[in-house]
Amino acid sequence: MSTPLTIEEIHKLYAAGEATPSEIVRTTLEKIEADNERLNAYLTISKESASIAAAAMDNEIQSAIQTKPLAGIPVVVKDNMCTAGIRTTCGSRILGNYVPPYTATAVQKLQAAGAILVAKANLDEFAMGSSTENSAFGTVRNPVNTDYVPGGSSGGSAVAVAAGHVPVSLGSDTGGSIRQPASFCGIVGLKPTYGRVSRYGLVAYASSLDQIGPFATSVKDAARMLQVISGHDRHDSTSSNAQVPNFLSALTGNIKGLRVGVPPECFGEGLDAEVRTKVEAAIAKLKERGAEIVEVHLPHTKYVVAVYYLIATAEASSNLARFDGVRYGHRTEDPRSLSDLYRRTRDEGFGAEVKRRIMLGTFALSSGYYDAYYEKAQRVRAMLANDFAEAFKKCDVIATPTAPTPAFKIGEKSDDPLAMYLGDIYTVTMNLAGVPAVSVPCGASSAGLPIGIQLIGNHFDEARLLNAAYAFEQENSI
Ligand code: GLN
Repeated sequence: MSTPLTIEEIHKLYAAGEATPSEIVRTTLEKIEADNERLNAYLTISKESASIAAAAMDNEIQSAIQTKPLAGIPVVVKDNMCTAGIRTTCGSRILGNYVPPYTATAVQKLQAAGAILVAKANLDEFAMGSSTENSAFGTVRNPVNTDYVPGGSSGGSAVAVAAGHVPVSLGSDTGGSIRQPASFCGIVGLKPTYGRVSRYGLVAYASSLDQIGPFATSVKDAARMLQVISGHDRHDSTSSNAQVPNFLSALTGNIKGLRVGVPPECFGEGLDAEVRTKVEAAIAKLKERGAEIVEVHLPHTKYVVAVYYLIATAEASSNLARFDGVRYGHRTEDPRSLSDLYRRTRDEGFGAEVKRRIMLGTFALSSGYYDAYYEKAQRVRAMLANDFAEAFKKCDVIATPTAPTPAFKIGEKSDDPLAMYLGDIYTVTMNLAGVPAVSVPCGASSAGLPIGIQLIGNHFDEARLLNAAYAFEQENSI
């Protein structure tokens, strides 16, 4: 039996009595195990706990599908979300054997909705990267073409869905890490509004930017996932009290009169010609379906990569200070003094990119440089938020490419951090401003590599954003 690709398809099988959760989970695990050597998408496969959870649902699945939106659905989550009793490595040697005592709220909510966690997905170490080549546990490969990267940092979670192992998974997005791999792998990836989803139990990279969100093969399934994981959490003071609307019922496909803003700043130099053509064609399809296309401006686009890499690394340098060999994970052998313990533990535990970022961030925060770098970056960040406020006076959603190019080859950019960082130009802005954005497949390059269009919404306007994405998906599949 091949694993069905959507939540609805699996629920139909359950409803018809044609499959049980145990059977679905067994097939899923078999596929995951068979593909993992080739794709390296998983760090831990929770075979036993998944099988137990599935068996416990076998008898009650008929009633469960009526009440639980994810009843019997196998899911994968990125390995920077804590899972009680299941190793959580963050793709780092420093947490190589870390088993958390608690589960992240978003994961707990999936499980409460009936989902079955089958595996923890590989990622760039501490979510720092755009290709999933920075994992201490090896590079992840793109299932569309294994010579290419899947994007990052949530590469493993994207591959889990793109390879057809599970219908949905969770990633985290600090500067594009859900949207860019979704684009590279040809699936849907959503970064919710900052505060929409609890970050409790998500190992922090840059706390003012981090947000958990879903990967799926369809906008509908992404909406289903968002419904489950959204909402205030008393364990995360930055999670919002904003009302959680019914995202599924917002998917009418009607976008008559919807104003779609197109910022020329996101179609300039450095944009691959094929990506431009496909994204422009996608915008034309939105128009055919009744949307009104308007020009808007994001005038600070040229600064966003610099601003992002100052703020993200500054926050990372502070967040990662806790990995000192005293409290969590790896500890060096026979330290000669306390500072020797810190130094050697961190030297042995962190990879090159994480070290680079800690140094960059520490530098940007250090006295004498703080005003010139960190503070200045914060000021530009405020201007970016203002750019969106202005743009959203003229439109309801904004359309841009998700990434300037399709997936690149493994190894192509790994020795050139700056080239890698520049690829984040269209995605980091939304994290800096806190607005939601979704990547939806809109075609492929002549080499057969997927291309995504990014749709951006105003704060807490995911319902309208997802409906725009849904309308495009409908139009595109005709
Ligand atoms: N590529 C960006 C970075 O390396 C974004 C990563 C992310 O969103 N976690 O920081």
